[in-house]
Amino acid sequence: MIYDIIIIGAGPAGLAAGLYASRARLKTLILEKEKEGGQIVTTDEVANYPGSIENATGPSLTSRMVDQVDEFGAERKLDTIKEIEVEGETKVIRGEKGEYKAKTVIIATGAVPRPIGCPGEADLVGRGVSYCATCDAAFFEDMEVYVVGGGDTAVEEGMYLAKFARKVTIIHRRDELRAAKSIQEKAFANDKMAFMWDSVVSEIKGDGIVESMVVENVKTGEKTEVVAHEDDGTFGIFPFIGFIPATEMFEDIIDMEYGYILTDENMKTNVPGVFAAGDVRVKSLRQVVTATADGAIAAVEAGKYIDELEGTTYAGDQ
Ligand code: NAP
Repeated sequence: MIYDIIIIGAGPAGLAAGLYASRARLKTLILEKEKEGGQIVTTDEVANYPGSIENATGPSLTSRMVDQVDEFGAERKLDTIKEIEVEGETKVIRGEKGEYKAKTVIIATGAVPRPIGCPGEADLVGRGVSYCATCDAAFFEDMEVYVVGGGDTAVEEGMYLAKFARKVTIIHRRDELRAAKSIQEKAFANDKMAFMWDSVVSEIKGDGIVESMVVENVKTGEKTEVVAHEDDGTFGIFPFIGFIPATEMFEDIIDMEYGYILTDENMKTNVPGVFAAGDVRVKSLRQVVTATADGAIAAVEAGKYIDELEGTTYAGDQ
């Protein structure tokens, strides 16, 4: 079977592309490696997506998006894609579970959280180190939590964590936050929030669970070991220091800039029939609203590409 469109990734960009493609009666397959929703499933509040209602969460928005693509008949499969072949009219996508073919491909693989990269971090993921506040906040009920980073994500997720934790300390490498002023104001007014400025985490230690970490002052070079309170035995470390685009498998195939896919304003990459949408591409604003817009454009453009490929002429075109 050759699909009209295969969409890789089921975050907001991929689901919006799936909606537009299936509504246009294009044979559509959405491939996702884990679970639908991408980064927004780890977001407690989606307040800036037009039409979001009060208390709308990332998971609730995702489940409505998934219901919509299902209603219009897009197929969805869970598979981890390992390789794609994009030369020629039929694109071949190979996953762990199977091989898929399509006339067009929309890459909507998004981005993954950037790790700190210090010793001990990788070993203690899920054992005190977490990249998802909504997933793991409850484990730190009435405990100490440290958030690394100074952007919107770090500060917003820090405030979410503060609903559970005894205290949340934001460790930031500079002496002012990057987060939007409105978000900063809320954080500074929150009694449970504290700040360690000009600081980075240089090592995380623990035997099976986080027990301490070394924090280094980047101005003075002074190192401090933060040790878990003896009654708690551990504390949480949540790095929110940006994202890395999930584009490794497209290297050498598709033009990129700093690991992000280059497209034109119609989401076309340098390869005919291959489009990219959402956080994975070079763009100035990575938000749900821009991801869904990208997805819609990519699907419509993929449809036009197929029409051209098949030489469809519409009434009035002659
Ligand atoms: P970001 O804006 O890129 O911020 C990353 C933060 O991590 C910065 O404060 C940066 O420090 C710090 N950082 C980067 N690398 C580091 C390292 N190796 N060690 C220590 N600290 C490091 O990322 P984000 O906060 O995830 O936001 C991503 C995008 O999503 C942004 O466009 C943001 O506006 C948007 N967003 C919006 C909302 C909202 O509107 N409600 C919510 C979440 C995210 P420096 O400041 O020193 O560079």
